[in-house]
Amino acid sequence: MRTGITHLAIPGPTNVPEAVRQAMNVPMQDMRAPDFGDLTIGLFSDLRRVFKTANGTVILYPGSGTAAWEAAMMNTLNPGDRVLMCRKGQFSMLWARMAEQLGLEVELVDVPWGAGTPVSEFARILGNDAEGRIKAVFVTHNETATGVTSDVAAIRAVMDDVYHEALLFVDGVSSIASIDFRMDEWRVDLAVTGSQKGLMLPAGLGILAVSEKAMAASRRATLPRAYFRFEDMTAVNGDGYFPYTPPTQLFHGLRKSLDRLFEEGLENVFARHRRLAEGVRRAVHAWGYDLVAEHCKIYSDTVSAIRVPPEVDARDVIRGAYVNYNTSLGTGLGPLAGKVFRIGHLGDLNEVMCLAAISAAEMALVDAGATIDLGSGVAAAQCWYRESRQVRQVAL
Ligand code: PLP
Repeated sequence: MRTGITHLAIPGPTNVPEAVRQAMNVPMQDMRAPDFGDLTIGLFSDLRRVFKTANGTVILYPGSGTAAWEAAMMNTLNPGDRVLMCRKGQFSMLWARMAEQLGLEVELVDVPWGAGTPVSEFARILGNDAEGRIKAVFVTHNETATGVTSDVAAIRAVMDDVYHEALLFVDGVSSIASIDFRMDEWRVDLAVTGSQKGLMLPAGLGILAVSEKAMAASRRATLPRAYFRFEDMTAVNGDGYFPYTPPTQLFHGLRKSLDRLFEEGLENVFARHRRLAEGVRRAVHAWGYDLVAEHCKIYSDTVSAIRVPPEVDARDVIRGAYVNYNTSLGTGLGPLAGKVFRIGHLGDLNEVMCLAAISAAEMALVDAGATIDLGSGVAAAQCWYRESRQVRQVAL
C-alpha cells in the first residue's frame, strides 16, 4: 500500500489544484439549458487572454492536443499542400507524421534532438520560395521530449523578411499558460494546446485559437473533415452551445483554473515557472549532468530533459523513483529512451514540490548506479530558491 501522495513530476498531465478538482464535482447539467452559455461564453473570452489574442476564435474540442493538431491542419489546408516542419523531438516528429498521413507534402528539416527550430534554415527555405508553394510553417513552441523552447517571434520575423504568406501553426501544448505566448504579436494563425498541462486540468480538451486569416483559409480548404469542422464550432464563441455533447465538468474546472491564472497574473505565472525551472537546472548541473537542450538560451521553463551517464539506464531511474520513492519522473521518448529522464515543472507547483522531485531523482539515480552525492542537487536548488525568493506578506 502506498501512503502519502505520489509526486507527479512529469510534464503533463500536471497536478490539478484541489480547488479545480472541487469545482468539477458538480451534478450533470443540461447542455441545452437557457443558462448554459453563462458557463461557457466567458471561457472563450478568457482563453483569448491566455492566448493573447483580441480577435482569434477559440475552439474547444472534446479531445486532446493531438485532436487539436489534426483539426488545425484539416480545416485550413488542401491535399498535397506543401508545409514546412522541423523534426527536433518526439512531438514535432509526430506532428510531421500526422501531416504526411493527412496527405500534405512535408518539407522536413531535421535537427539534433536538443536543438530549437532552426531560424536561419527556415529563412533560407522560405526565401527560396518566392512563388509561395509552402502553404504553412509549423513550430513546436516547446518540445516536451527534449525540454527545448523555440523562438516563434524569430520565425515570424523571417517569414515577414521574405514577405512569405504561409499560415503559421504553433504547437503550444506544453507552453501556453506556462511560458509567454503571444498569438497576435507573433501573428500566429493556429495555436494549439490541451487542457492537461499549463491549464492544470485533466486531459480531455483540445484547444485551438484561430486567426482571421486561418478562418478565411478554412472556408476555401478542401481536406476532408467532419467532427472537427470549424464551421460547426465557431458559433459556440457567440452563444455558448456546442454542436455535440461537451465535457461540462471540464468547463467548470477550466473556469476555476482560468480564475487562478488571472489571480496570480499570467506574467507572474511565467516568472514562477522560470524560477522553479532554474532550481531544477541548478540541481542537474550540481550532479555534473547535462540537459538535452543544447544551449541555455533554449532551456524550457516547463520541462527539463536530463541526460544520465552511460553506466546508468534512465529507465531504472524512472522505475526506481516510482516504485521506491512515490515519484513519477518523465521518461525518455523515442531515441532518448534509457538515456534521459525528464522532470516536469509546470502547472500547479512550488519550490518544495520541485525539491521533492529532485530528491527522489537523486535517490533513484544512486540506486541505479550513479555516483552523484546525495543532497548535492537538492542543496543547489535550495540555495537558488532561497536566494531568489520574494518575501511574502503572510496574513496570520
Ligand atoms: N505536443 C506537445 C508539445 C506535447 O507535449 C504533447 C503531449 O505531451 C502533444 C503535442 C500531444 O498532446 P496530447 O497528448 O494532449 O494529445
